[in-house]
Order: sequence, then C-alpha cells, then structure tokens
Amino acid sequence: MKFNTKTIHGGQENTDPAYGAVMPPIYQTSTYSQTTPGAHKGFEYSRSANPTRTALENSLASIENGKYGLAFGSGLAAIDAILKLFKPGDEIISTNDLYGGSYRLFTSIFKDFGIKFHFIGMENANDIENYINENTKLIWTETPTNPMMNIIDIEAVSKIAKKHKILLAVDNTFATAYLQQPLDLGADIVMHSATKYLGGHSDVVMGSVVVKDEELAEKLYFIQNASGAIAGPMDSFLVLRGIKTLHLRMKRHSENGRAVAEFLNSHPKVEKVYWPGFEDHPNHEIAKKQMKDFGGMVSFTTKENSMKDAVKFVENVKVFTLAESLGGVESLAGHPASMTHASIPKEEREKTGVVDSLIRLSVGIEDEEDLIGDLKQALRS
Ligand SMILES: *Cc1c(COP(=O)(O)O)cnc(C)c1O
Repeated sequence: MKFNTKTIHGGQENTDPAYGAVMPPIYQTSTYSQTTPGAHKGFEYSRSANPTRTALENSLASIENGKYGLAFGSGLAAIDAILKLFKPGDEIISTNDLYGGSYRLFTSIFKDFGIKFHFIGMENANDIENYINENTKLIWTETPTNPMMNIIDIEAVSKIAKKHKILLAVDNTFATAYLQQPLDLGADIVMHSATKYLGGHSDVVMGSVVVKDEELAEKLYFIQNASGAIAGPMDSFLVLRGIKTLHLRMKRHSENGRAVAEFLNSHPKVEKVYWPGFEDHPNHEIAKKQMKDFGGMVSFTTKENSMKDAVKFVENVKVFTLAESLGGVESLAGHPASMTHASIPKEEREKTGVVDSLIRLSVGIEDEEDLIGDLKQALRS
C-alpha cells in the first residue's frame, strides 16, 4: 500500500465487525462483558485496550512503516512512557534544540529519578560519540528542530546508535510520516505529539509512539497499561479522522510554507529566515535526502532584535492567530522566548538561537495570498 492509501485504509480492516461501519465507532465504554471469567472478545478494560484506540494505533503503525502503535493522552505522556523504559544511572543523549516541554520533563522530572541527560547539538552526528559511555541507553532527537529548524541526519545518528547498541528515538511531530519516516532510516522509536499535524485541526491533545521491534513494543504496552496515560476513544476517533487527510494537508502546508519562507526572505525588515528548503540552510542536503518536502514550519528574526518588536508583530497578525501549538489547518504565530520555550533558561535558549526577536510560524492551509498579505501588514506596523 502506498502512503496516500495507508492514511485512509492502513491497519483499518475489520474495525467494526458488528455492522461494518466505514469509520470505526467511538467505543465510549470503560469495560466489556465476559461470558465466563476471562472469556471476552479481545477487550476487557479500556485502559488496557479500547477498539477505537486500537484502530488508531493500527493506523499510526501503518503510516510510520512500523508494526506496533500506541496512543497516549498527550505528546508528553508518550515521551514519559518512553523514558520509563530506563533506570536510575542510565544516560540519555538529547538534541539541545528541542521542544521546551520535553526539556522540562527530562530535567525537572526524570533527572530527579536518577537519569542523566546530555544536551548537545546533533547537526554533526559524529559529535554524539563523545558523549557515549557504557550507561548510555538512548539518543533522543527531533528533526526539524523546534523552533530553529535544524536538520539532523537520522540515518547517520542511527548508525552510531546501532554501533553502540543504543536506542534511537525521533520526535517526528514537525515532519510527520508524510515527510519523513524515521523507522525506515534506522530509528527504533518514533514519537509524535498527535496534537499537531496528525490531529491537524487543533481540537485534540494526544501523543503517539510507533516501533517495529516486538520486545520493545511489549515493554511500552506494559508501561502504557501500568502507568495509564492512554488516549480516550473520542480523541482517538478525531485523530484517526485527521490522519485520513494527512497527505493532502501536509502537501498544502509545505506549499504555503515555501511561499511564506520565500516572502520573508526577501523582506527588508527580516534578518534571517529558518526554513530547511533554502539551499543555504546548513543541512539542506540532508533535509532533501530524508524529507519529501520541507513542511509548514518557518521561523524568522527581525532586524531590530527586540522583544518589543517581536511581541508587536505577533499581536498585529490577523489571519495568523497568536497561539501556542502548531500543525492545525489554521496558521499560527508564536513567540518562542516568551511562550513555548519560556521553560528553558535564557542563556540555554540563546545558545541555540532562540533570541528575543525570534518568531515561529505554523503555516496553515489557507490561501497563500491572504497569508502573505497578513505578514506584510504586520511587518509594516
Ligand atoms: C507539542 C509538542 C510536544 C508535546 O506534545 P503535547 O501533545 O503538547 O503533550 C512534543 N514535541 C514536539 C515537537 C511538540 O511540538
């Protein structure tokens, strides 16, 4: 099955054996009747499994070219479950340009449970080897990174991980399986905030994990059930519905993303545009190699590097909405230094380029002319 068919049919055989409903019903139930203790139709209690969630989990596994999918109550709940694979004394090497909430979870929760983190730039994959020792258990990466749009070579990192028998997890939220398939590039775990492009309509918070390896899947299912941060049936239905148009939306996000990046790049008030589709982007060649297109996320700085100007810009946009989050059909503008990345200390975030004038756009699927017109008027003011 090709990707554009998988988004609609992947893993969806027989999702409603009762009546043949084309869309899996929302099984809004906590429990399932048994004829004699232990005899049931595959479902006992909805923390362990729920048919609507299972339908979504199968779809997730299919689009990522994995075998096992798991849906959680949020992206962070998904990351939390992955980190519970590890024990005190274990070490994790993470990219230093990552989602602020992931950084907070690592340093404010898991650090206190005795897991040691190294935050490093991964644009040059070979740098990772300097941090590997016998306690290293996981490499955590995100590409394109948030919000600097750095590109990390998944295949090169996976070779290092394999050489040292370390797991590699990729947060694929920005690219989605439409643009890049980390498991095919050698990653062991692919994670998503399904809140973003997978759901795609800014109406649900959810996380997902997909793996190929059975043993790893069993451990994760155990954690999912034992810790219980599952996705609910209604939310599972919404994300399943979202995935059915993922390919159409991502194509359009990428087209509009390109138009916005090119417009900003030619604007006199703009200092620098961060978008991996530019030929002079430091890892453009890798982006071209591992991604189908460049997506809808674009960050930029203005020439006046001031918090005040950046805040004014995001207040003045009209078609774009000033809001946290990304990946919905509507365009959003955000100010990382005071919003998504406020939980990262100023010195730490400025090291990776998250300066006060940085603005991050999630370019939606509206008409290109309206989007550019809006940016033009907001930059004027
Ligand atoms: C939003 C986001 C997360 C966290 O997901 P939630 O669904 O908000 O918990 C993790 N990684 C990235 C890249 C994100 O954008």
